[in-house]
Amino acid sequence: MNAAEQFQAAATEKAGDLRHRAVIQKAIGTYDAAVAKGKTRFSDWQNARSHAAQIKWETINHLDRYLEQFERKVIENGGQVCWAETAEDARRYILALAQRRGVKRVVKSKSMTTEEIHLNEAFEHAGIEPIETDLGEYICQLRREPPYHIVTPVMHLTKADIAQTFAMPATTSAEEMTMFARAKLRQAFLTADMGVTGANFAVADTGMIAITENEGNARLSFSLPKIHVAIVGIEKLIPRLGDLALLWPLLSTSGTGQPLTAYNSLIGGPRQSGEPDGTTEFHVILLDNGRTKLLADAEQRDALHCIRCGACLNACPVYKNIGGHTYATTYQGPIGSVITPHLRDAKEWSHLPFASSLCGACTDVCPVRIDLHHHLLHNRRNAVQRGFDHPLQRLAFRLWLWAMKSPTLYRLGGKLLRFTPMTPWTKTRDFPEPPAQSFKDWWEENERRP
Ligand code: SF4
Repeated sequence: MNAAEQFQAAATEKAGDLRHRAVIQKAIGTYDAAVAKGKTRFSDWQNARSHAAQIKWETINHLDRYLEQFERKVIENGGQVCWAETAEDARRYILALAQRRGVKRVVKSKSMTTEEIHLNEAFEHAGIEPIETDLGEYICQLRREPPYHIVTPVMHLTKADIAQTFAMPATTSAEEMTMFARAKLRQAFLTADMGVTGANFAVADTGMIAITENEGNARLSFSLPKIHVAIVGIEKLIPRLGDLALLWPLLSTSGTGQPLTAYNSLIGGPRQSGEPDGTTEFHVILLDNGRTKLLADAEQRDALHCIRCGACLNACPVYKNIGGHTYATTYQGPIGSVITPHLRDAKEWSHLPFASSLCGACTDVCPVRIDLHHHLLHNRRNAVQRGFDHPLQRLAFRLWLWAMKSPTLYRLGGKLLRFTPMTPWTKTRDFPEPPAQSFKDWWEENERRP
């Protein structure tokens, strides 16, 4: 099966799985209530979104300048920068570094960029043990599953599912499970040779990376091991440290409804002389991996403004029914369907933008005002123009266009369709009985009445 057929099969199965739908809709319902409350803390939410969009627009439209400024500052602060054009380049750099330093164990904090480059598999293949330290990611790792959601990796699991993953009784409390994971992870922090993180933002004017989290595990991942490697997508740049005053609360409000997450860290390089603690090496890998292709596309460049808050996934009626794993991509939901055909193979992933009702709920919630549903349409248009659509679909639209241009054919088509069985559409959906009389016939009949 190709990616489109796998998607279709998984979506059909998940859409009919009522337990799965109940679990994620409950989780998203809790999230919706928290976010609605969180937004009221802003004196003007819409203005905050516009201002954030402006910051990201400025960055992405001058990305070359900001990236070079960031690199200069990291090096001035004693760090090292690797420019990785591909996932392979990023993996090669980090594995070579790990091998040079004799690294046996790596602790990782939550990072979708490391998921994107399949870093855990690369570490395992090289005989290095990667340990996820974010609780959700740790559960995913134990289950050998990819994250289900870019912010909430195990949104699809109940407490009982997690207890089963930990081989504990179903009645185990959340606190007991957390303490179990905490005991395991503390040991990992103390024995790891390298810490790997992503970055929520990379600040050009100071050369710092900003990490947002709720568990403190990222802070332990980059401060206890001797070596810290941050893998940063180039779109994570922001111009100034002061921009975080808006972007931090905007991200946490859209992501979880919190005014600020529990821990917000700024890392500006390795331990400086005279400092009692901190890492001895700080490496930043600036990852392209298809992002400059998107940057070159003036129409869709603003998809790089994304701050990965996950709000568009939670708002999407398709995501809420088929769930995150169905997409089989690193980035799911509306933003994933916009960027994946650009970051990965355009033909293989051309089906994703069609998995949308184009209702625009994603665009309405995006804190940096990305015009997501129009970008989904752009991707559909690109797929059709490049001939990636199904020949039968193209034929159906040609026939429809032909019929739409002729009143006689249109009328005939309407009559025929009223008596055509709507399977397979009605196999999984309700469809009302079509009226025996068309609106046009009804109108003509009623018009003739005095
Ligand atoms: S596209 Fe917007 S709403 Fe979706 S994850 Fe990115 S910032 Fe959040």
